[in-house]
Amino acid sequence: MWNIKYDCHLHSDFSGDCDTPAAQMVERALALGLEGLYFTEHEDPDAPPSDCDFSVDFGAYFSRMPQLQEQYRGRIRIGIGMEFGIQPHLPGRFLELSRRYPFDFIIASLHNLNNMDPYYPSYFEGRSERDCYEEFFRVQYETLRQCEPASFDTLGHMDYIVRYGPNRNRDYSYEAYAELIDPILRLLIENGKCLELNTGGLKYGLGEPNPCVGVLRRYRALGGELVTVGSDAHEPEYLGFRFGYAAALLQELGFRYYTVFEQRNARQLPL
Ligand SMILES: [Zn+2]
Ligand SMILES: [Zn+2]
Repeated sequence: MWNIKYDCHLHSDFSGDCDTPAAQMVERALALGLEGLYFTEHEDPDAPPSDCDFSVDFGAYFSRMPQLQEQYRGRIRIGIGMEFGIQPHLPGRFLELSRRYPFDFIIASLHNLNNMDPYYPSYFEGRSERDCYEEFFRVQYETLRQCEPASFDTLGHMDYIVRYGPNRNRDYSYEAYAELIDPILRLLIENGKCLELNTGGLKYGLGEPNPCVGVLRRYRALGGELVTVGSDAHEPEYLGFRFGYAAALLQELGFRYYTVFEQRNARQLPL
């Protein structure tokens, strides 16, 4: 069993792009020997048109999740979280949601910019990959700057876009985009926010997590100590994906602990 015992980024059928009932995720987490799992469902207001509805039914969510917590009490810790799809015009909306509902944990993630999701190849049409990646980091910084620190706990998959670029991460590195990445990392550190290590990048075949090792190393060098860890699983088999690797990597980079949240309060657990 690996040292990271909480998976803090995963989805169930409360997310528009996921069909897995939450209980299946919990059963899988128990089978893996995890001590906790945090559901972080997609809430992406004003998402560009797609086949999925990226809005959470909060009434149903806050009815179902406490039932699950009760059902599994004493066996595993189930966190009620969110993955907010941040956009420059939405900070007020997320602050309001973060105050209205008793979330344990909130991830801020940039999925959509200029009314497009880099998940779709059309985002890259007619532009260089470098222009697209630069735009992504620039918009991410500007958007984060406008977000109220109280409205989120960690920044999700900071280099999400490299999962989908024409050459993916072949020409990408921390160094190649340092000028745009450093301000994001500094902003997180100044505000006491976490950076997420998302093992989804390994699932996508990048050979690295999101963000890449170079970014995690730089965050630590700048004084960043707070990391959350998640698989971004949409299917049970990806729960806790490559957490052994993640724990070893974080230790090697000089991190001593990872962070989990309960009712938005941080708790450090040893790596
Ligand atoms: Zn995401
Ligand atoms: Zn996610």
